[in-house]
Amino acid sequence: MESTGKRDIRKLTLTQLEEFFVAQGDKKFRAKQVYDWLWNKSLKNFDDMSNISKETREMLKANFSINHVKVDLMQHSVDGTIKNAVKLYDDKIVESVLIPTSKRITACVSSQVGCSLDCNFCATARLKRMRNLNPDEIYDQVVAIKEEAETFFNRPLTNIVFMGMGEPLLNYNNVIEAIDKITSPEGLGMAARRITLSTVGIPKMIKKMADDGVKFNLAISLHSAINETRSMLMPINDVNPLEDLSEALQYWYQKTKRKVTYEYVIWDAVNDDEQHAKALAKFCKIIPSKVNIIQYNPIDEGDFRQASQDAVDMYVRILETNGIIAKVRKSRGQDIDAACGQLANKNEVAQIQ
Ligand code: SAH
Repeated sequence: MESTGKRDIRKLTLTQLEEFFVAQGDKKFRAKQVYDWLWNKSLKNFDDMSNISKETREMLKANFSINHVKVDLMQHSVDGTIKNAVKLYDDKIVESVLIPTSKRITACVSSQVGCSLDCNFCATARLKRMRNLNPDEIYDQVVAIKEEAETFFNRPLTNIVFMGMGEPLLNYNNVIEAIDKITSPEGLGMAARRITLSTVGIPKMIKKMADDGVKFNLAISLHSAINETRSMLMPINDVNPLEDLSEALQYWYQKTKRKVTYEYVIWDAVNDDEQHAKALAKFCKIIPSKVNIIQYNPIDEGDFRQASQDAVDMYVRILETNGIIAKVRKSRGQDIDAACGQLANKNEVAQIQ
């Protein structure tokens, strides 16, 4: 699509589109009509813009392309979870997941193609980072899942989590622009409080979010509140140790007054002892917080194994004794590699091999 030399129309702001129409000798309000089709109604073809004349549609087609993502492969899990392999304009693929529960339908979306962080337990890390996603590519993943929620469940999309491929805070501007569109009435009009950004925890960027006054929720992939263990699991902790994270979180809370969620996997012989559980309970007292204990989703024959039920119970007991809310989350979509940390374009890899 890029190769046609036409401009991607969704790169234009409403003002730029208005200027374009005026320069063409057309009415300014035409821009608003087209903008509405492009974002609010997520149309993929100019020909479907029913209140725009044929002549204007032809003129738009001659000047612009709509680089909408395509769902290349949709996989359905036995538990209702759907995984989309989403093809981008340059044929790169990212994955997004629809997670249904009785109360919610959540879209789990990607922010980068691959990932530059080397978390040892995550399949996406094996892909390395190829590029950042554009705001419209993030937006389109949400639209695809919203449509699937309506088609397959006859229910609306209720929540969005940035827990797919990539590190959202390393593609900050595009993620923020996408969220702005998702929450604006011109876009999908979703409430920011239904959106959660999950990050490895980059202190400088957490402070920036607080300064920018973002209204969505923050989740931190913690996995250990002991530096030595966390650095072994997540090498980014070497340059951004827990002390810096703690300081940034205090800044976040001072400015936003919103609690944070810690995501935490308990692995056998890694962090399944009382010392780690107590360190987590202590860390949780820095600012108001809650803990999601997530089940480990094996990504290969590798070194990591889910801890025993006893260890999980021990964590819950210690956290609850300290007045901290802890929820044990069941894994979803494991049979189609759609669970946390399993997104790695396996089907694409299989095709190439
Ligand atoms: N980069 C962001 C978002 C992507 S990962 C972040 O790190 O938060 C989404 C969540 O899945 C993170 O909490 C991550 O730690 C977790 N995760 C990664 N690999 C996993 C695995 N194999 N099993 C369970 N959770 C995993």
